[in-house]
Amino acid sequence: MSDSRERHFDTLAIHAGQAPDPVSGAVMTPITLASTFAQSSPGVHTGFEYARTGNPTRDTLERHLAALEGGAHGLAFGSGCAAMTALLQTLKPGDHVVSCNDVYGGTFRLLTKVFGPAGIDTTFVEMTNPENVEHALRPTTRLVWIETPTNPMLKVIDIERIADIGRAASATVAVDNTFATPVLQRPLELGADVVMHSLTKYLNGHSDVVGGALITSDDSLHERLRFLQNAAGAIMSPFDSFLVLRGTKTLPVRMQRHCASAAALADWLSSHAAVERIYYPGLKDHPQHELASRQMAEFGGMVSLVVRGGLPAARRLLERTELFTLAESLGGVESLIEHPALMTHGSIPKDKRLAIGIADGLIRLSVGLEALDDLQQDLDSALQESQRALEQ
Ligand SMILES: *Cc1c(COP(=O)(O)O)cnc(C)c1O
Repeated sequence: MSDSRERHFDTLAIHAGQAPDPVSGAVMTPITLASTFAQSSPGVHTGFEYARTGNPTRDTLERHLAALEGGAHGLAFGSGCAAMTALLQTLKPGDHVVSCNDVYGGTFRLLTKVFGPAGIDTTFVEMTNPENVEHALRPTTRLVWIETPTNPMLKVIDIERIADIGRAASATVAVDNTFATPVLQRPLELGADVVMHSLTKYLNGHSDVVGGALITSDDSLHERLRFLQNAAGAIMSPFDSFLVLRGTKTLPVRMQRHCASAAALADWLSSHAAVERIYYPGLKDHPQHELASRQMAEFGGMVSLVVRGGLPAARRLLERTELFTLAESLGGVESLIEHPALMTHGSIPKDKRLAIGIADGLIRLSVGLEALDDLQQDLDSALQESQRALEQ
């Protein structure tokens, strides 16, 4: 579809970047497994030479993802972490990064344990106050890393404000849009330079792919990233590219249901006797509710809560849910429950974890597409069980 930007998002999700296969008429993009492509004369080819450099299935996905984020260019990688790695490889020793402190555990690990020792220093700040970014800037700051809503505290960061601050400092502003998806929030339209996704989560949506992407409208940044994608080689496979193309067709419909069920559960949990605190940007008493209402179309499918009774109660709750599967990851059709302190954010030192708010009783829910009533009953009985752990 050539005029993709004029279409509604729900239509783009199905058609953008894709046309029936010119050879067979296949309605779904074929999975092209060839590792090399025939040339009619040296250097004369169809646009594809060698499949690390470019592959038709991945190419379709990359154009598709660019359209969904309203960007000019997309690149698909073997994981979200590989996508981030490519972006960080645009930096050089001595360069400085400012990141939000409440960040995906793997992002924290990559910044501190891989790029830190390579001479790229990161300052982690509480980004719900944009002034903290201004104070953390150095003459060498080249990248500002935003993740919003944050993981797992579901704080909301003002992309437009921080993008202004980053631009004034000539730093690249990157947004990890994994939690929100382009259905709820489009950071490039808010002034960000590049969007990163873990395709593993909502975009694929079926818990059967690990993948990542970078989307930008900055031609020179894209050229550098494309070079790194090929030179470092952390590409997404044709089969995984096909699965993500399949997944995004239902993204708008899935997000609608994820958001509606999460909002209903958050509302119900906020007055549950076994729940000490609840974190969901859609609740009126969430500290950034007003910003979330402006910045996001809806409030997402993730809910965090603190169960009364700390670790023993949390452990009991996590062992007793039946529909909410105890597992890392998020954004699939099935509901998941996890314990950030022991699981996804275990790589963050305990003092830093507690300072962010990741308490021992903190539980993160990825609300899936099962019937709301069944999900509520499942949580209710497990929460009641968790409180029995206190009585013993
Ligand atoms: C999962 C995740 C990542 C990392 O992606 P992988 O595909 O697991 O490498 C980065 N950011 C967020 C917010 C995530 O949820």
